[in-house]
Amino acid sequence: MKALGVTGSGSGLTDVDLAAPSPTGTEVVLQVDRCGVCHSDVHLWEGGFDFGGETMSLEAMQIPFPLVLGHEILGTVCEVGPDAEDIAVGDRRIVYPWIGCGHCVKCASGRDDLCPDQQALGIRKPGGFGEKVCVPHSKYLVDPGDIDPSWAATLACSGLTAYGAVRKCLPAESDRPVVVIGAGGVGLSAISILRALGHSNILAVDIDDQHLAAAQDAGAAKTINTSSVPDPVETLMTAAGGPIAAVIDFVNGPMTAPLAFALPEKGGTVVQVGLFGGAFPLPLAGMAVRAISLQGSYVGSLQELRDLVGLARTGRLRPPPIAERQKGEASEVLAGLRDGKIVGRVVLEG
Ligand SMILES: [Zn+2]
Ligand SMILES: [Zn+2]
Repeated sequence: MKALGVTGSGSGLTDVDLAAPSPTGTEVVLQVDRCGVCHSDVHLWEGGFDFGGETMSLEAMQIPFPLVLGHEILGTVCEVGPDAEDIAVGDRRIVYPWIGCGHCVKCASGRDDLCPDQQALGIRKPGGFGEKVCVPHSKYLVDPGDIDPSWAATLACSGLTAYGAVRKCLPAESDRPVVVIGAGGVGLSAISILRALGHSNILAVDIDDQHLAAAQDAGAAKTINTSSVPDPVETLMTAAGGPIAAVIDFVNGPMTAPLAFALPEKGGTVVQVGLFGGAFPLPLAGMAVRAISLQGSYVGSLQELRDLVGLARTGRLRPPPIAERQKGEASEVLAGLRDGKIVGRVVLEG
């Protein structure tokens, strides 16, 4: 089976030849139809993550090599194990890639996304940059209905990450201001989800006017380019027209964190989503006095993916801009993402 893999930290993407998966037990094998390219792929491609300090290499994270990237997968079932149920060859499905160990407390409660020994596709197990993927159970497959196939693929990570973050800043009354920092693909999805859930007072923040134009199209009531205003906090407070209920930071780096923590009202929420990395000194007493809730958010649960796909199938959600490219262009796409040159999402075909 042909695949694009990483063979070590900083190796770049190389062609690798792997044995095609053959399903046993409840396993299901899918032919990959589409696979989105994500910022996490950029970190894996570059060779590590910055968790606040120095970059942690893939070797230090004990990532097995070759690592076949790609966790935003839409595929067609091509083979099923003898014990697989509720699935048939030919079914087209979105793959929930955030698969847990299957036997811990979190997995038992349906929260594979919080499993301490997660075996995510495209991060620890072969992902969608290969021709086929193997999923341990049909419960990880979600029917996309007739929504656009490329958009369907992106729901598994960028869509789910946006949905999981939005759920954490609710319930806030629908007219209360919510600030979305970072109008890349995930931020745009969050704006669209907030709108679909009835929220109207959404403020989008970015340093790129093209991203902000896309945010307006996605449903942001106001857009602010923080690189062109002298006092972003003051500008946002005024633009919000009232105390800000929640801030979702899709960048989450030292350049956005001071803004994210300065904005919420007393009792408000900061949801940290982005994996930009770095560190930020937190004003500790201020956090207590303002009773701020600080909530990290990493992808989302299997049930949240089902809920999100259900919302997408109602037609109330607006897809972010999506460009389709061939798998052979993956390295170029990763470089474009790294350099902030891509508006919305890119999905690889075939
Ligand atoms: Zn992702
Ligand atoms: Zn587990």
